[in-house]
Amino acid sequence: MKILVLNAGSSSHKAALFDFDQGQKPLWRAQLDWTHTAGAVELKAQTADGRSHQDTLTTEDKTVGLRWLINTLVEGPVKTLATLSEIQAIGHRVVHGGREYQASTRISPAVKATIRQLFPLAPAHNPANLQGIEAMEAILGEVPQVAVFDTAFHAQMPAAASTFPGPYEWVEQGIQRYGFHGTSHRYVAQRAAELMGRELTDLKLITCHLGNGCSLAAVRAGVSVDTTMGFTPLDGLMMGSRSGSVDPGILIHLMRHDHYTADDLDTLLNKQSGIKGISGISNDLRQVLEAADSGNDQAQLAIDMFIHVLRRHIGAMLGNLGGLDALVFTAGIGENSADLWRAACAGWEFLGLHLDPDKLQRHTADRDIAATKSKIRVLVIHTQEEWAIAQDCVQILAD
Ligand code: ADP
Repeated sequence: MKILVLNAGSSSHKAALFDFDQGQKPLWRAQLDWTHTAGAVELKAQTADGRSHQDTLTTEDKTVGLRWLINTLVEGPVKTLATLSEIQAIGHRVVHGGREYQASTRISPAVKATIRQLFPLAPAHNPANLQGIEAMEAILGEVPQVAVFDTAFHAQMPAAASTFPGPYEWVEQGIQRYGFHGTSHRYVAQRAAELMGRELTDLKLITCHLGNGCSLAAVRAGVSVDTTMGFTPLDGLMMGSRSGSVDPGILIHLMRHDHYTADDLDTLLNKQSGIKGISGISNDLRQVLEAADSGNDQAQLAIDMFIHVLRRHIGAMLGNLGGLDALVFTAGIGENSADLWRAACAGWEFLGLHLDPDKLQRHTADRDIAATKSKIRVLVIHTQEEWAIAQDCVQILAD
């Protein structure tokens, strides 16, 4: 069964084609980047058998760009299918499912209307996601489409975790903690259970998605019971260029004394803060680690803060989880940085958590890096959100 997965953003489109019967490695993968050249879009595509292709098209029309991307499946150097009719389903990453969706769902006119209603909650994402859905309808016709929401995995959080302590009217207005990165947290939680040879329903996990965006989820019996991102993906951990949680009084201060507007605050907190804001170097942790190694104090402070905030939030998850079977690391930073594992795990020895120093070398496979004697497993798992979306498509179409 051939499944196309699309992650349609405002400045990029990422697509992957899976043959579900052949497993997790996509047959073809392609990406459109709308930011490189004004008035044009850049395409990069690769196939599982090692072919690749790069090209530029003069257009600003997203549907035209997507049609061009999809056509590389059936013609040219990365041709993978005899005909587009081989595609049996399309899975879409949709960032915000609001309170409406607790799970992935087959796309219908009503689902599209709800994704549209949620534009105010995810102005940077849901419009692009819906545009991707409508473009695929135009390009591929009647092929069943499935929406997989970043928020869905957190939708069963207890009200005490999802409600913000503002006025009660916020509940009625939908101002609450939704949480994001749900597809990744769900995938790595399931994979953790597999690696541990245990039932997910028996496990208490903290999953740490640490990429450019960073969030934690407390997962009890396969259900997210708490998470660090909130009403928007800005809350919680310190991130590449996002601040994470800061005292909201700072925002009032900036508005009152420095006349910051909503747009100014948006740019400041989303683009000029976090690792980038403190280091003054980059949102890319690797560059900041290098600068810290050469004695840059701001870079060192950014790293120390990242770890401090991460440990603070791991601690905050523990209380409501009531125990911990495994700490799971995933995404760019979480999957690759031994320094991060060491630093994040230091301090939890009193809970019986111990790393095995011999297991920290670079490796690509999903694995357990805890010492044999450790009471808590520490797992490094490569997140596979696209594969998780493809799996949801198969399941939903089978129902
Ligand atoms: P995104 O959230 O954009 O998908 P990724 O999951 O690719 O991002 O994560 C990007 C982050 O991972 C960057 O900060 C990058 O520096 C970091 N990263 C990647 N490899 C390493 C590494 N070996 N050591 C430390 N950080 C790494």
